[in-house]
Amino acid sequence: MKKFKTESKKLLDLMINSIYTNREIFLRELISNASDAVDKLYFASLTDSDIQLNRADLRIVVSADEDVRTVTVSDNGIGMTKEQLDKNLGTIAHSDSLAFKTENADQQGDDVDIIGQFGVGFYSAFMVAKSVRVVSRAYGSDEAWAWESDGVEGYSISPAERAEHGTDVILTLKDNTDEENYDEFATEFGLRSLIKRYSNYVRYPIMMEVTKTREVASQPSADGEGAGTPDANDQAAHAEGATAPDVSAQQKPEYETYRELETINSMIPIWKRRSSDVTEEEYNEFYKTDFHDFADPTCTFSIHAEGALSYDALLFIPSRAPYDLYSKDYKKGLALYSSNVLIMEKCEELLPDYYNFVRGVVDSQDLSLNISRETLQHNAQLRAIAKRIEKKITAELKKLLENDRETYEQFFDNFGRGLEFGIYNSYGILKNELADLLLFYSAKQKKLITLAEYVGAMSADQKAIYYATGESTVRLEKLPVVQGVLNKGFDVLLCTKDVDEFCFQSMMSYGEGGEAHELQNVASGNLDLSTDEEKQEAEALAKDNEALFEVMKDALGDAVSKVTVASRATDVPAFVTAAGPVSLEMERILSQMPDGEGIKSERILELNAKHPVFEVLRQAQAEGDAAKVRLYADILYNQALLMEGMPIEDPVAYANAVTQLMA
Ligand code: ADP
Ligand code: MG
Repeated sequence: MKKFKTESKKLLDLMINSIYTNREIFLRELISNASDAVDKLYFASLTDSDIQLNRADLRIVVSADEDVRTVTVSDNGIGMTKEQLDKNLGTIAHSDSLAFKTENADQQGDDVDIIGQFGVGFYSAFMVAKSVRVVSRAYGSDEAWAWESDGVEGYSISPAERAEHGTDVILTLKDNTDEENYDEFATEFGLRSLIKRYSNYVRYPIMMEVTKTREVASQPSADGEGAGTPDANDQAAHAEGATAPDVSAQQKPEYETYRELETINSMIPIWKRRSSDVTEEEYNEFYKTDFHDFADPTCTFSIHAEGALSYDALLFIPSRAPYDLYSKDYKKGLALYSSNVLIMEKCEELLPDYYNFVRGVVDSQDLSLNISRETLQHNAQLRAIAKRIEKKITAELKKLLENDRETYEQFFDNFGRGLEFGIYNSYGILKNELADLLLFYSAKQKKLITLAEYVGAMSADQKAIYYATGESTVRLEKLPVVQGVLNKGFDVLLCTKDVDEFCFQSMMSYGEGGEAHELQNVASGNLDLSTDEEKQEAEALAKDNEALFEVMKDALGDAVSKVTVASRATDVPAFVTAAGPVSLEMERILSQMPDGEGIKSERILELNAKHPVFEVLRQAQAEGDAAKVRLYADILYNQALLMEGMPIEDPVAYANAVTQLMA
């Protein structure tokens, strides 16, 4: 016997001892594996002319034996070699989501959630089975092998017989206990309902032998008075004539039961049906099964296009981001079908990057089955479909934003970052498409608002849209530069996502033509908020105090490009702004990136001439006390950085300087 790998063992323990009530999903998992195996063989046949296959023969068969309590799922798919049985069923470490599953199982000790959250795969069989036997014959091989396990310590592999390529997974159900009854899983009714519920749209027939009744041709009655049983022709004649009393009508019809293989799943793809004929529950079930999510989607919508290019699309917006959405391993794409047959699991070309979270299927009879990756990229039909899908998604999101704000906010929390990246990555070209889908926190209204709502609430004298960027709204709100703008009666969008600033900078403005409003970071040195009078005043002061600023600039060295008088009103003695294209926030984010070290903002120290400290500075300058001016410059600059949430270069020197003032 071979032992299970540690990771597999962990998951198995979870399965066997699970208190999870949704055990019935084991059948969905086994059927989906069977369907995958059939897909694999079918795909192989598309490119390998040695594989002679009749699509109509591909199928999955479910059977049960109530007496010995077994359930079997068989397929005539690609099958497994001895090595594959060992690798695929003996270890599950090759699955990415598993590492995640087991890690988190340890942390949370919450089995129920883990099983619910992920497709649990083959091992889910052990939720209902005390032992599992898998007999498989790989396509093209004449050997069959059996894998067997009680799911506890390990498994064994031994030679077996199988007439044809494919796999049988045979479960022996667990014994019933006082609390648990497993019998239903071996009944025709139980299995049929599970197939219908979870696997209705599997694109291969799922067949099961079902019991049926039929009327038996009547036998001659023993006490009949010579009235022979009429044959079928006679009966028809009687029925038509309807004059003489009908002998057969007086006889009780007799029935017999018989068993027959029947296709249980509808196979009519759900996306081909009219939306009005499909219940929300059916859509949700389809989504969860096909896209391995445990939560219902936030939004479901479809496109039925007819004409030169006809196709059906069924699209879902998940209610939460998959755990790997922002990792480089995440693959976007929609399943692509041509007349019900899957061509490609994830066709990237159908979705723009910023809608990478959308799941769904596209089915077009106008696409060729043998379409290859290379031709796809240049396929005009595909591009047309993608364009329409993109428009549809945008429209649906706008609808959600208008009709169900709460749900939209959840959506934005999950996926908003991607939309902003979309604008940034396109150098702002996509802003018309996406800007109206963005939400930002309003300092004035204390809630999330759209840019349109911001503009709608602006007073006539406000020209620009103001925003501040930083780590938390609470801290941003207290920034002197934010308070300064708020004091003017203007709202400020408090942005906490790392992408916000980059998105705004590539947008530059919001709105069309004459209605466009510039987007301005309140921490920008070029912020034009002051009246002409204030500006003139500041200019005059700057001129008067040239010598003072020179000493201060000299004390601060390269840290700042300039020291000057602030023209905007504020309560603090001084603050820092950025003059060039790189804002303080961008510098902060970029400095955390591998290549971002050298990128510096051009800082300006702006002094508040109305603050008492300014008078102290002037005094010191007038008295020729350069040491004092230099000390103050240093302290004011570091204080300003601290308020901005920026790191200061030499905290010890700063503390010493403050202490020096105290003593
Ligand atoms: P997943 O389906 O997510 O890969 P599973 O645990 O369900 O994970 O299955 C593990 C692997 O076992 C599959 O990837 C496949 O290689 C193999 N397998 C399972 N069932 C079958 C089957 N019926 N036919 C062929 N291979 C199978
Ligand atoms: Mg599976």
